[in-house]
Amino acid sequence: MAKGKKEAIESKNGTAATPGDGAGQQVAEPPEVARASAYEVAQRQLDEVAGFMGLEDDVLGYLRACQRELIVHFPVRMDDDRVEIFTGFRVHHNTAKGPTKGGIRYHPDVTLDECRALAMWMTWKCALMGLPYGGAKGGVIVDPKRLSIRELERMTRRYATEISLFVGPERDIPAPDVGTNAQVMAWMMDTYSMHRGYSIPAVITGKPVSIGGTAGRESATGLGVAYVTRAVLKQRLGRGLEDVTVAVQGFGNVGSWTARSMHDRGACVAAVSDVYGGVYNSHGLDMRQLLRHVAETGSVVNFPGADSLTNAELLELPVGVLVPAALEGQITRENAHRVRAKIVAEGANGPTTPEADAILADNGVFVIPDILCNGGGVVVSYFEWVQSLQSYFWDEGAVRRQMENTLIASLEAVNGAMTQCKCRMRMAAYMIAIERIIAAINVRGFYP
Ligand code: GLU
Repeated sequence: MAKGKKEAIESKNGTAATPGDGAGQQVAEPPEVARASAYEVAQRQLDEVAGFMGLEDDVLGYLRACQRELIVHFPVRMDDDRVEIFTGFRVHHNTAKGPTKGGIRYHPDVTLDECRALAMWMTWKCALMGLPYGGAKGGVIVDPKRLSIRELERMTRRYATEISLFVGPERDIPAPDVGTNAQVMAWMMDTYSMHRGYSIPAVITGKPVSIGGTAGRESATGLGVAYVTRAVLKQRLGRGLEDVTVAVQGFGNVGSWTARSMHDRGACVAAVSDVYGGVYNSHGLDMRQLLRHVAETGSVVNFPGADSLTNAELLELPVGVLVPAALEGQITRENAHRVRAKIVAEGANGPTTPEADAILADNGVFVIPDILCNGGGVVVSYFEWVQSLQSYFWDEGAVRRQMENTLIASLEAVNGAMTQCKCRMRMAAYMIAIERIIAAINVRGFYP
């Protein structure tokens, strides 16, 4: 019943893991990237949009801050009887549009600042997707690969207990992120339910189908990246997925499902990478064999018939589409001018710094921003929440169709704003999200 240690790990970006909601293997970060600066990056992005929109200082000040931040330190009995103290976080950025929504990350480098940034990005993403949510994010400072399956369960249950004052089906609904997966969500849902004495499936999304999860959640983020990229390719370059080569950084949930989904729709997936390194074959990698290789060896490295390359080299390949599906801060001012892709499709949250954004734009590289590109995950999380609340379940075809409709409608709204404002796609996406949040703030007013 309980899955193995590897299976208990999901990552959007990539800690070694079988597909969960994050991408799989974590990738090495460029040396100049300070992870603690993700919040500064998120705030700078907001400041830029606020300047462009002429936002009032009051509103900007309100949106720059996170509404609630919880830090927890908690003991866990390890298998050798030692007690280890873990530190975790849960941040609610903004609740103007409804309960907060966002993943839980297990990673050794998780910080409060990173959770703040990721929570803020969730607020924008949910608003852009038209979901009745604000943004949240949580995490525990831990390398989940280091724990046994029982240690992972005990740690998860204690963390779920510690943050339970922040969480609830009408309050804050966690989901998988880097380093967590459906099994971790099942433990969280069970723990929350045990405290209340009855099952409350709507408190968590990304949980297994057997306890009220939705069909199509595991593949949703990567499949959504493929849908959005396909539409942008057609609109911007008059091409189809079958006309392009693709490189994917990160091979966890998001990276692996993006690679599979694009491959299944005719793309030539020429390179993929994980925390251990990357593989490249200009004629394309055989996805089925690659997935088998990863299942057997735990990494894409040494895949037969492919050359090896580093994560840094992958970002600079001459491909049509580059998908950073690992951690934030991967495309920076140091390497942006060497990116040769025509389109960067952000599978990860925050993979491109503001300086890199400007360099890419100058070089004619079109960036599909994270809050649009990887929105399929939270869209299907919303469908799961609705199904859990109603105890009425949809088939996978309906989930996929509705997800594609939501993503394409959001893309069209962003296209309209881009044309109107003659701005970059990230700016247009942020403007729509922020306008929707401000509309909610205005009618609600500031209490008291
Ligand atoms: N962790 C995912 C994201 O960053 C999904 C969040 C959710 O489904 O609530 O979008």
